[in-house]
Amino acid sequence: MKRVLLLGGTGDALAIARHLSAAHVYSLAGLGRVPADLACSVRVGGFGGVDGLAGYLREEEIALVVDATHPYAAQMSRHAHAACGIARVPLWAVRRPAWRPQPGDDWREAADWRGIVARLGPFRRPLFTLGREPLAHLDEIPASQYWTIRCLEAYAGNERANVIDARGPFDLAGERALFDAAGVDVVVSKNSGGRATEAKLAVARERGLPVVMLARPGLPEAGRDFDDAASAREALGRWLDEPDS
Ligand code: NAP
Repeated sequence: MKRVLLLGGTGDALAIARHLSAAHVYSLAGLGRVPADLACSVRVGGFGGVDGLAGYLREEEIALVVDATHPYAAQMSRHAHAACGIARVPLWAVRRPAWRPQPGDDWREAADWRGIVARLGPFRRPLFTLGREPLAHLDEIPASQYWTIRCLEAYAGNERANVIDARGPFDLAGERALFDAAGVDVVVSKNSGGRATEAKLAVARERGLPVVMLARPGLPEAGRDFDDAASAREALGRWLDEPDS
């Protein structure tokens, strides 16, 4: 029986994991919820770098790695690429296409945290929707700003910041209410792609608010690339049905 290692952390990965039988492994970094209702085995936590992952692939006799990590989890994708090369295991990747600006959008790209901070200079009420990174900078908030930070983690804010612990999907009505309540005048986002978290971009557009967009990291090439879970699942089903070579 061919064994698949699915690297997850996204809705696409979970959608694929739901179709994997007990022989296969779904791997999570441990940042979010760990599903308890899957037929496949679930492992949580890092492999110990490239060598650790290459060793794991050999020991567990993994025949295919499917990298369905978040597009910003670049280190994991690079490690998977290198480890698959060492262990001679094929690598597939599921990568959601990036969002593209639409008419009326005012997107300002930033390469990193410093770039984000520089672009926020003229604004007072940013809404951060790029994960936990702002939590490390709560003591650096300028006196002119009040931050609203939405991330997966419950975390204490301070007098200059409110941290909202929430998990998508988010809809238009909810995002409008949040923008109103927080007085948002600029949005900070990763370019995650997909439907679950794009409503904030529509609300920014309808209100003429800028979006500071963190640029996607460069990712290594995979043997096969898929845009969504459905196409990856279909190909995986066919691959599993093929006899072992
Ligand atoms: P990363 O920087 O690429 O990975 C850091 C390390 O975490 C990896 O080297 C690996 O440790 C471990 N790791 C990551 N994904 C793993 C997986 N699926 N299974 C086992 N180990 C895994 O990625 P990150 O720290 O997870 O996140 C980077 C960015 O992606 C952040 O901005 C985060 O907000 C965003 N993001 C991540 C996830 C997620 O579930 N990972 C979900 C949504 C958004 P070893 O080197 O020890 O193997």
